[in-house]
Amino acid sequence: MKRLVVLGAGESGVGAAILGKQKNFEVFVSDRGLIVEKYKEVLISNDIAFEEKQHTETKISNADVIVKSPGISETVPLILKLKAQGIKVISEIEFAAKYTESTIIGITGSNGKTTTTLLLHHLLKKGGIDSGVAGNIGKSFAQQVVENSYKNYVLELSSFQLDGIEIFNSHIAIITNITPDHLDRYENDFNKYIASKFRITKNQKSEDYLIYDSDDKNINDWFKNNNTKAQLVPFSIKRELEYGAYIKNNNIIININKEKLNMPLSTLSLKGRHNTKNVMAATMAAQLLKVRKESIKESLANFEGAEHRLENFAKIRGVEYINDSKATNINATFYALECMDKSTVWVVGGVDKGNDYEDLLPLVREKVKAIVCLGTDNEKIKKTFGNVIEFIIETAGAEEAVKVAEKLSETGDVVLLSPACASFDLFDNYEDRGRQFKNAVRNL
Ligand code: ADP
Repeated sequence: MKRLVVLGAGESGVGAAILGKQKNFEVFVSDRGLIVEKYKEVLISNDIAFEEKQHTETKISNADVIVKSPGISETVPLILKLKAQGIKVISEIEFAAKYTESTIIGITGSNGKTTTTLLLHHLLKKGGIDSGVAGNIGKSFAQQVVENSYKNYVLELSSFQLDGIEIFNSHIAIITNITPDHLDRYENDFNKYIASKFRITKNQKSEDYLIYDSDDKNINDWFKNNNTKAQLVPFSIKRELEYGAYIKNNNIIININKEKLNMPLSTLSLKGRHNTKNVMAATMAAQLLKVRKESIKESLANFEGAEHRLENFAKIRGVEYINDSKATNINATFYALECMDKSTVWVVGGVDKGNDYEDLLPLVREKVKAIVCLGTDNEKIKKTFGNVIEFIIETAGAEEAVKVAEKLSETGDVVLLSPACASFDLFDNYEDRGRQFKNAVRNL
């Protein structure tokens, strides 16, 4: 019996453990922290051995294969040691992929993964294509492989999951964009992060497709020095393409099949230039999987979008409230500010991952009337925007932030929560931040 050791008992780790058990591995799960109760119960009910608050090396280094949680860095001493001993350390998607024949559509990028993943899943389902959704969304891929047998899987993939692949392949891969993020995990080397994202194409063959943002300099630079066997399917919002997706006269034109697909931007339910790109990427993937044009158009008009992503959820006394709590970096917030067409009270701040707020200055000058800081350390924000914005108010919680924002706004304005930062100083996570914000608004 082969021994599978799973490091990290979160959604992906527990999924991998259950799949391992089903495939007759001797499974051991080890977590250096506390294991969440619901996962503990799953491990116990599946009769899977585990430990928490420690990694017992003797129980780990006798593994035939190790599945590492994406949360554990490749460079922590334990992982380096295990690798030096010649033990395979892979990610959960690599492990799960060995046990399914389904077609995989893998989606990565710095921003837009979740939106594009959910949108593509919506297009496929409505288009009558048998498909499941997994990865960073909902149930892990491994768990899905245990429970279901969809013909297609749309997977949201982080760079950390891609770091741990060997044979994993996506028939259709999407790279939404690449901007600096998570550099702390890549020795502050942006090139390493870029290389990690491009691992999504490393096993692709000539019958596979790589859909990508051809306006993205970092992506284009990669193509200058590297190759992929996949067929390239670009999209652009800046110029017309002979092959791929582009914009002409406020229409999205897609030219990858014999017949062009033409969609007015005004008919899309998702707003904003960034979402136009997500729509292009998802639509081309759906077309490659043979969803009919009419069905795609209908689905694009009624897609509801994901919570915490430019979620326009309330209008109170003439002021619109938008929850973009998922905007945890500058690039995401850039697009949020860009699509504001009303005078905006901007709620920003939290734990920044090395933000350069200067990039936002032109948009802030043009659109923002007041700033509400929602973080414990707001110095950088005050310093960057202090000369530009008259009202910069610091707050220490969602309720206070919302009350201040309400005072600063008047009929016809927007209050936008788009923090450009992680949430861990004041909240459990971005979902918690978004929900507290929404609750506070609803209580106004
Ligand atoms: P991810 O899963 O990659 O974090 P999401 O779809 O959850 O991406 O969106 C994260 C944030 O980025 C949201 O604030 C959203 O409005 C913004 N965003 C979505 N798509 C894009 C894009 N293509 N480019 C830049 N920002 C985007």
